[in-house]
Amino acid sequence: MTTALQRTLFDDQATSEFEVVVVRSNKRKKSSEAVLVGREIRIRIPGHMTAAEEAEVVTYFTEKFETKYGASRIDLVARAAKLAKRYGLETPNSIRWVSNQNQRWGSCTPDDGTIRLSDALVRYPDWVIDYVIVHELAHLTEPGHNDDFWALVNQYTKTERARGYLIAMASVEAEGR
Ligand SMILES: [Zn+2]
Repeated sequence: MTTALQRTLFDDQATSEFEVVVVRSNKRKKSSEAVLVGREIRIRIPGHMTAAEEAEVVTYFTEKFETKYGASRIDLVARAAKLAKRYGLETPNSIRWVSNQNQRWGSCTPDDGTIRLSDALVRYPDWVIDYVIVHELAHLTEPGHNDDFWALVNQYTKTERARGYLIAMASVEAEGR
């Protein structure tokens, strides 16, 4: 039996163009697997899976591919340089993605001018990623969260909106799916 499901992920965001096709196979007993073919994620699952189990597997694989390809889509160095120039901030010596950053979206080490961003961000809209970059760039100048720091960050006009978005996403992820 074969069923196909197509959906566009993250409808309100421009970050994803993947389509998902799920193939059920009665020969498959336990494990699921997924491959990326062009912009299509093909997921093979055991025939006996419930709709809820299928949804879980689809979420797992789409997030995995989103993160992997989202991270390579975004040129962090160029983006940080552009934002630093626009807001009169320092340019970092290095900026890169990291996984599993203990629920932190980003971190900055002013001493050596390095910035790390959680790769969970790649699934979020660009204007949210830009906020986190501006936040960490501002820490190169001002390590604490004082008034001077926020004056720098608030030059980015979507700061309040982005902070609200991240707070909402953090509670969604804390509650699980
Ligand atoms: Zn901070």
